Amino acid sequence: MRVLVDRNGAGVSSWTTAYRIGNYLGSVIRDQGARPPDSAGVYVVSERSWDETPSRSSGIIYVGQARYLRSRIGSLLCDLLGFTGDEYGEGEAYEHSGGHFLWHHYCIAQAAEPSRLYLGWCSTFRCSDCAEARLRELMKFRWNLYPTRSCDRHTPPLELFTNCSTSVALSAGLEALQKFR
Ligand SMILES: [Zn+2]
Repeated sequence: MRVLVDRNGAGVSSWTTAYRIGNYLGSVIRDQGARPPDSAGVYVVSERSWDETPSRSSGIIYVGQARYLRSRIGSLLCDLLGFTGDEYGEGEAYEHSGGHFLWHHYCIAQAAEPSRLYLGWCSTFRCSDCAEARLRELMKFRWNLYPTRSCDRHTPPLELFTNCSTSVALSAGLEALQKFR
């Protein structure tokens, strides 16, 4: 995880650096610590890298959230790299509908190598629904993959950086701790 101090003192982004998929796959043993955690989080696939948090200029082409980031991102990569069905069939010969979709409608359609795309995730946040909603607003393409989701608890959704920053999570944790004192 890259740690950057925000100049306004608002917090430290809890997003990973943007991993270029080809580079990431080239050092999975050496960089085992870079694997996604076995915990809940939000993840994105983008055309370009980002600083601190994914942004509009990152060319975000997919946003998801998962209860177990590691296995879900593994499923995404399988399909995104072409280990997926040739059709959307009854039998569902794919694991991750987003990866399946991107392989067919982005990578093949644009002759774009998935290894050149970027991947990153965040597992420390106040609200994953808000993070997903904000990230979807930043997407380059509004695929018809899924309905627009919002957050039941926060209107408008929490701002992405403050939602996904460690100082916020730490202070939320401290608040929780103080409750038990
Ligand atoms: Zn929320």
